[in-house]
Amino acid sequence: MKITILGSGKEVGRSGFLVTSNNTNILLDYGVMLKREPSFPIHVRPKDISTVVLTHAHLDHSGHIPSLFLSGSNISVLGTNPTFELSDLLIEDMLKISGFYLPFEYADLNNMMSHSKTLQYKEKHLVNDMEITLYESGHIIGGSSILVGVEGKRIFYTGDINKRGSKLLRPADLELPEVDILIIESTYSQTEQAPREESEKNLVQFAHDVVERGGTLFIPAFSVERAQEIACVLKVNNFKHRISMDGMALKANEIMLRNPSFLRDPEGFKKIITEIEWVKGWQRRKHLVKEPGVIISPAGMLVGGTALFYLQEIAKNPSNGIALVSYQGKGTPGRLLLEKGLVSYNGKTKKSLAEVKHYEFSGHSSRTELFEILNKIKGNPRVLTVHGDDMSCTKFASEIKEKYGFDAIAPDNGQIVEVN
Ligand SMILES: [Zn+2]
Repeated sequence: MKITILGSGKEVGRSGFLVTSNNTNILLDYGVMLKREPSFPIHVRPKDISTVVLTHAHLDHSGHIPSLFLSGSNISVLGTNPTFELSDLLIEDMLKISGFYLPFEYADLNNMMSHSKTLQYKEKHLVNDMEITLYESGHIIGGSSILVGVEGKRIFYTGDINKRGSKLLRPADLELPEVDILIIESTYSQTEQAPREESEKNLVQFAHDVVERGGTLFIPAFSVERAQEIACVLKVNNFKHRISMDGMALKANEIMLRNPSFLRDPEGFKKIITEIEWVKGWQRRKHLVKEPGVIISPAGMLVGGTALFYLQEIAKNPSNGIALVSYQGKGTPGRLLLEKGLVSYNGKTKKSLAEVKHYEFSGHSSRTELFEILNKIKGNPRVLTVHGDDMSCTKFASEIKEKYGFDAIAPDNGQIVEVN
């Protein structure tokens, strides 16, 4: 048996791993790297693949799967129900925004969806000689880690994993048997994040301050999970003023309400998400930016969506505030705002008069939590550190080797790892 690294070797984005046994080839994730132009994992021939197992809906894990259906192939895609509903939403949106750069179309996405097979967590599924089991990953709704049993060996691929859970989600499930190969994400292996309680407290305080001085607080947030998480953080911490949500986040709300068993507290979520305002129409948007309260709207890095309208209106008034609640990628309008306080629209760049603050709300495990995951792993696995920049993967591998004595490497894209 062997594992080929197709993407996310010493980089974040375009995840893809090919697992090959004597008679079966499966893919674990097949995503895109979204920069100015999307880039893709190493090509595989659809006719050589029988199954794709998808960890979660984020495009860097799901976004290239439709390309496997170009020639009308008969591949099965395995994942949880919310993963498929959200992938459909996110990939369709990607086609809308950057379809020009993509090697597939809506028809291929539809084809992918018609080949989807829904699994429950811990439900065993056989693909020839391979046994596939999904484990709850705590990263986004429906998110999974994957256990593959093949030729007497067990491979555990964490996908994106959150050991701590969140207001919305239960923590990652690590009740695993002994494993022989561990493929672990390394995103924050070299960075400790601000404690979650601190980020929550400071964000709620900022929201109070802005609203009490008569301003509007705008929170650009990813439509899946982050927007809803922020609404819950405000509500749970007794924020009494108006909260409005807009854009694609509303579609994600509907998907989450349809999949309550994947939530930590379905009743609590339903109460909060139906209490806040779901913004509909431009009339309302134009009024909202003049009323004290909170507006949550994608895109999280301000690259598109209704966020652009809110940004330019909210930035005009010094009583207002803008709270960034995720990582802001290089070259994005969010990064420009965070680093220089500048807002760019219609070809003009202006100083934001609104107060801008940044809070860490990651859906990934922090450095400490990644080591807590390793503490829970049984057996003496070979470890592949992936899905992090070069330094995060390489340093993490050498730390794992030193601390646990595991044979750990940071593989490159294209590298083949033989497992005997
Ligand atoms: Zn993710």
